[in-house]
Amino acid sequence: MEFAHQSEQEFARFLDYYRIRWTYEPVSFPIAWDSGRIAEMFTPDFYLSEHDQYVELTTMKQSLVTPKNRKVRLLRELYPDVNVRLLYRKDYHQLLGQAGYGALGVQHLSKEDVGEILISPVELETRVRALGKRISRDYRGRSIVLVGVLKGITFFMADLARNIKVPFVIDYLDLKRFASSQPSERVRVARDIDYPIEGHHVLLVEDIVNTGLTLDYMLSGLKQRSPASIEVVTLLDRPMRRLVPVPLRYAGFQIPNEYVVGYGLDYRELYRHLPFIAVLKPRVYELVPPAKASL
Ligand code: 5GP
Repeated sequence: MEFAHQSEQEFARFLDYYRIRWTYEPVSFPIAWDSGRIAEMFTPDFYLSEHDQYVELTTMKQSLVTPKNRKVRLLRELYPDVNVRLLYRKDYHQLLGQAGYGALGVQHLSKEDVGEILISPVELETRVRALGKRISRDYRGRSIVLVGVLKGITFFMADLARNIKVPFVIDYLDLKRFASSQPSERVRVARDIDYPIEGHHVLLVEDIVNTGLTLDYMLSGLKQRSPASIEVVTLLDRPMRRLVPVPLRYAGFQIPNEYVVGYGLDYRELYRHLPFIAVLKPRVYELVPPAKASL
């Protein structure tokens, strides 16, 4: 793909990164006529089909901004149904910053360490909303105690809870993991829930179920407190790594056998801020395997 300017190429990569569909200069709009013949055309740089949005970049010289403003104004007047947005250099950098790019490069974070995006922000939003709807339907007329397992569920819990339409209480559990040869000795409760769950409907909220050992341990502990029912919702499920069977009533996405980060999920407290779920390149943890990933 040949771009007229480097900034356009950069923008195209940004869109690809976020899985936003784009076409480069797909249409030219006539914007001025001279005795019935087209005297001037305007070709916006990008068209984002999913958003029905044209984007014109103005990351070039300031001297070009004024004529561009004029063209965009004419386009809007002549074609009121066409959505066109002029993106100034400062907007563009703000956009990149908001998307988490600005923060990369600090705290040993590197954009190169993040591999393929498995689940885009839009896919996350859509699926979490659907899970919320199903849960609301299944628990209609009842209330729930949502028990989140810290800390990977932070974003998921907030988004899911906003989509649950029955009354709920939120509580949290925190676990401590140990390196042990005995799988059953690898995890202990570091912070227990506050809420007395006896006789209540509990929905355990997990970020990712891998071997199932963590979940199995928590479920057996919580069941001893005689809840009216206990079910599990997990954002991610990696069934190929399962060692013990666990009942997953609701699961967002099944994922392959690769360590993932983003949307609250970390690698040594890093990468939680990414607005998508991406693969962490193995070279990051190859030398020192993360305790969590090696379970
Ligand atoms: P399990 O006991 O099912 O093997 O492991 C589940 C826990 O391990 C999750 O709650 C999570 O904290 C951690 N974990 C497993 N796989 C991943 C992964 O790919 N990324 C991250 N960030 N954490 C993971």
